[in-house]
Amino acid sequence: MTQGSALRATLDSGIERARTTCTFCRMGCELEVIRQGWRIAGVEYPADAPVNRGRLCPRGSASALLLDHPMRLAYPLKDGKESTWPEFFAETGARLRATPSNELAITYDRNLTREELELVYGLANRLGTENVASAYQESEACFDLRLDTKAKAAPAVTLTDVLGADTILIAGDAFAKMPVLAKPVLDARYQARDRRLYCIDCVKTTTAGFAHKFICTEPGFEPLVMLALAGLVGPKLAGFDCEQVAAKCGVNPDDLREIAEGFGKTKKGVVIGATTSGRTMDPKFFSLALQLLVSRMKGNKRLLIAAEAAVPPGPCRFSEVLAAIESGEVKTLLNLGDGFPRDYPGLVERLSKLDLLVTTATMRPAGVTPGWVLPVAMNLEKHGSFSTVWGQVNLSPVLTPASGTRLVSEIVAGLLDDRISGESVPESPDWLKVPVKSVTDQGRAMLKRPETEPDPEFRFVLLAEQPAYDFRGIFSQVVHPLLMTRSDAGQLGVEDGDRVKLETRAGGKLELPAAISDRVGEGTMLVNSGCPETRALFPCEVDKLTGIVTIPPVRAKLWRSE
Ligand code: SF4
Repeated sequence: MTQGSALRATLDSGIERARTTCTFCRMGCELEVIRQGWRIAGVEYPADAPVNRGRLCPRGSASALLLDHPMRLAYPLKDGKESTWPEFFAETGARLRATPSNELAITYDRNLTREELELVYGLANRLGTENVASAYQESEACFDLRLDTKAKAAPAVTLTDVLGADTILIAGDAFAKMPVLAKPVLDARYQARDRRLYCIDCVKTTTAGFAHKFICTEPGFEPLVMLALAGLVGPKLAGFDCEQVAAKCGVNPDDLREIAEGFGKTKKGVVIGATTSGRTMDPKFFSLALQLLVSRMKGNKRLLIAAEAAVPPGPCRFSEVLAAIESGEVKTLLNLGDGFPRDYPGLVERLSKLDLLVTTATMRPAGVTPGWVLPVAMNLEKHGSFSTVWGQVNLSPVLTPASGTRLVSEIVAGLLDDRISGESVPESPDWLKVPVKSVTDQGRAMLKRPETEPDPEFRFVLLAEQPAYDFRGIFSQVVHPLLMTRSDAGQLGVEDGDRVKLETRAGGKLELPAAISDRVGEGTMLVNSGCPETRALFPCEVDKLTGIVTIPPVRAKLWRSE
């Protein structure tokens, strides 16, 4: 044995590798967590993983860090104070079972396996409540809406479709949502000189930097561009004249024609959609306009939704649950998952009428959440199945759940004092179907809408981005700079690196450093919404048509800190 191999053997002694699928987004990358005794020693990037082939994004790379993170919640919190599981079950089990079913709502969000979701439905059935909804508030939930067309649903997209696509259109910040998607997309783009990559967004992203043509719209105008393209790639779409739309959106009509021509010639095209909370003005309109565009494209075209999680909508809309809480009808809310939208002050305020709020979390929440917050296992610690954009995958735990946490099955059994079996999750409730006419009507109304008067007080539009390196404020507590144009900064007397005070129409306030950037247009500013402090700058709005709660961009004012 050489000296090197002896050293290697010593280092490797006691090392175990456990392989699973990363569930921080729907890309389906595989990873290995390396354990040495009871210690998590790191993460391995398996070269034979079919989707990611030896790559992971910052979120996947940080899996080991997250499993062992100092912010992992290890005991139940009651009104922000440390409590115990026996105290929780003693106080709430019998109370929950005795709650009249119409006064109880059960919601769920991300970080649940399919089997856990089925258990949530089993729990609702046992407790007799029909108030069951998804509480997942990321704007990507609007991609669950289905355009009510006669066209056959497009087949599911495969990795081979992406790699073999001769034309790709990306609407939104897809690489921030599913970072490893960049590799197959760019492999496809650089495979031959005649391959084409197009982008539509209201912020200059890294994705856009690779595009042959980048359509940079005013915030909120992306769907109008999609409708103009829909009229160019298929039969004429009445009311969406290319010149008129281009003038309204501040883009070049020749660029729209070039993209339409590109898709006209293509044999294998892929359209990728991504919405971002705090960035996409109307994610419902965005999702439906994109679906309409794809449905009118000729030939073999596929739609891929870049998203962090797939959370099936329930029989109720979350907005209906909120309304029932506000009217006093629902008095108890139980949420299972890891993304309860407690960072949005507007929403938390709306929950204040509840007698009992029980939520779960993997990390200690910022601030005090009223009621109970229970520590749960992460997906990396579970058996079960999980939905990626390429289909269902089986998860296997890389280690046992962190001490102090419980699995959803254990919580349900503890609350009912009984074990139950899961119930099937309802597929695509009717309220998700949206008529084509409502989408085109919305587009036409937007085209006719006069320019909005400038808001003299809140002069800027604040947009958000959620880069992979800053996942939910867990990796770092740093508040990233607020990006603004040189000209806006000049008018405000702000220089690169100055600290500024920001206040939004939603009531959010924050002091943070400013940075000059050409990534945004004049009158717009960009903040990293990866941490709770910046998320709290944005409002929660209930979409009138669908009842989905969304987080739109917000108007803001700012001034230099003294
Ligand atoms: S792209 Fe998604 S699945 Fe892949 S490592 Fe990153 S977060 Fe995980």
